[in-house]
Amino acid sequence: MPTTVNCPTCERLVEWSNASPHRPFCSRRCKLIDLGEWFEESHRIAGDPALDEDGMPLAPARAPHGD
Ligand SMILES: [Zn+2]
Repeated sequence: MPTTVNCPTCERLVEWSNASPHRPFCSRRCKLIDLGEWFEESHRIAGDPALDEDGMPLAPARAPHGD
């Protein structure tokens, strides 16, 4: 009988074997959700949107054409 663990995210039973590459999570999605929890929190504090404004110049990088 294979060893099973509970997915930390959704608590589904996960077989502890090569059949479950994302163990102890049941799926990649659950793994990302678990990682995303702390990631999102630190992201909110950092105030990322400011970066977006700065990194979004609409003018394409083209050389001025004579003058
Ligand atoms: Zn899960």
